[in-house]
Amino acid sequence: MQTEMLEMINVKLPLEQCSDLFTVKARGGRWTAVDRQEGVIFSSEHLPIQALSFDELKTTVLLNLEGKVMLPGFVDAHMHLDKAYSLPFVRNKSGTLLEAIENYRAVSPAFTKEIIRDRIVKAALSSASFGSAVLRSHLDVPVHLGRDIAMRTIEAALEAREMVGGMVDIQYFPMFFYDPAYERELTEFAFETLLMGIDGVGGAPHLSPNPETNIGWAFRLAQRFDKPIDLHSDESDNPDTKTIDIYCDYVKAGGYGGRATAGHLCSLSAMEHGEAERLIAKMADAGVAAVTLPAVNLYLQGRGDRGNVRRGVTRVRELTEGGVPIAAASDNIQDPFHPFGRGDLLQIGLMTAYAAHLAKEEDIVTVLRMLTSNPATITGVKQYGIAAGNPASFVVLDARLEEELFQELPSSRWVYNKSKWTFASKLSRFGLEPSLSGSPA
Ligand SMILES: [Zn+2]
Repeated sequence: MQTEMLEMINVKLPLEQCSDLFTVKARGGRWTAVDRQEGVIFSSEHLPIQALSFDELKTTVLLNLEGKVMLPGFVDAHMHLDKAYSLPFVRNKSGTLLEAIENYRAVSPAFTKEIIRDRIVKAALSSASFGSAVLRSHLDVPVHLGRDIAMRTIEAALEAREMVGGMVDIQYFPMFFYDPAYERELTEFAFETLLMGIDGVGGAPHLSPNPETNIGWAFRLAQRFDKPIDLHSDESDNPDTKTIDIYCDYVKAGGYGGRATAGHLCSLSAMEHGEAERLIAKMADAGVAAVTLPAVNLYLQGRGDRGNVRRGVTRVRELTEGGVPIAAASDNIQDPFHPFGRGDLLQIGLMTAYAAHLAKEEDIVTVLRMLTSNPATITGVKQYGIAAGNPASFVVLDARLEEELFQELPSSRWVYNKSKWTFASKLSRFGLEPSLSGSPA
């Protein structure tokens, strides 16, 4: 059901970086006013959101948020929706990236289009229920195992996007594994997928036999179709792995600043400080954005270390201070690359705060930006944020202070997107109230 008018009082907006409360108004799915209040507003006309069932919420125009936090819908800038929930079928005994890739490859021919599609739908809806409005998913397309196997994932992904389109937006970046032995097949396949509505070019050049040739190939493809590029970069503990150096050269030469993203950048944290600083400055200059995937890299990296085990998480603070736009994202969910996760970006924010030592009071907003406005910029989402004129896409969380978001990971969330309330889960902190799982309207 579409909500035509909406007015909410006593709203906390942490991204505004002030302790004031706000009154926000929307009409036809767009913000019309975001006004700072003088103090708390008392009103008997505005109903407390906590007291409403999901059905009641859908028909209520005047709401009292009683100081609860509202954030723009999260943007999860790096996921693998097609692999989500595959863990029962693909294990990873060593916990390394290479075993995860190998084991997934061995089983992937057995995954039908329907199985992959259903996994994408489930993971996308789970993410949306925790407050995400936009998801960017990389896709596994092992062309060397056969064109049909690779195309299955593309078709599943496009079908899944149709199915969840009323709840959440998805962008797809297939991971084209470049191997000179399969260049012709790969190029034909890539052309076809980009014509089918795939959003951009992905890959993992540090795993390729020739990273530089791979990056050059990916760039020619992106430029030919005028698409953004998003490469898995240097997901390795080895400080000498630095494909980001070459990637930045291509971005700069091709004028691709602002349309190029590098995920992981683990080796950046392993290398000597001066060299890391040089590369960070080069990224800022070329306009390459970064995405950190703390859950997965804490799990996969440092597996050869004993004693002081490396965390594998990139230099989040230095990238931020160096002027590189950086987001934190989910990466894998319940698969051989990462056995946990549920598409909840707040959980990822908590891990970022731990892993990147971003837990001072003033750091919390930095982390919240890494889940919202930063990934919105990186993924090219236009008109983003709680401001008059923008689409009203937001999540209300049962917390009154920004620190409480990470202290409590509130279960009670109310999600509004696409001109309607899409999910509401209402759970008291002590589990005494029934949970209301909203179904698509
Ligand atoms: Zn990834």
